[in-house]
Amino acid sequence: MLPDEIEKILEESKAVLHGHFLLTSGLHSPTYLEKFRLLQFPSHTVRLCSLIADHFRESGVQVVAGPTLGGVILAFEVARQLGVRGIYAERVDGTRVFRRGLSIASGDRVLVVDDILTTGGSVREVINAARQAGGHVLGAGVLIDRSDGDLDLRTPLFSCYRLAIPTYPPDQCPECKKGVPLSRPGGGL
Ligand SMILES: [Zn+2]
Repeated sequence: MLPDEIEKILEESKAVLHGHFLLTSGLHSPTYLEKFRLLQFPSHTVRLCSLIADHFRESGVQVVAGPTLGGVILAFEVARQLGVRGIYAERVDGTRVFRRGLSIASGDRVLVVDDILTTGGSVREVINAARQAGGHVLGAGVLIDRSDGDLDLRTPLFSCYRLAIPTYPPDQCPECKKGVPLSRPGGGL
């Protein structure tokens, strides 16, 4: 699957929004990725997940784990393609935990997945939850890496697509200077 095919999918699903957005990091951006507009199309999601599954297919993955909310969908599909368990970690008191009888056993070989990588916070939280349970984290696979490229997750990272999206501190934001109303999209779980 080529980068321009992925670009076409993002465009067709109208996942890339233009305006003036407040990100969860506190930064402002003229572009926002409404990931669920992409994830609502099973055919697109399955194809992108196959890139992650293929990348880690020979790694001996035993469990795929993702953060709520988008990571639930990705963990399910990547796990399905690899023929292993897919679980998710929920946010409780500012951290991620496996609940609902989901668990990682000591020594389990874990692949962490997520939809969009920005600051890496959610992915790191799942990596920590897996390691605390005694799991061996083999790597992280994400659909879209929109980070600045300097993230160190302390595990190998694979992304299906890299998207450079400008972000600004509020006092340097061009949209603020133009007086464009700020919107707060999405909403994390
Ligand atoms: Zn702004």
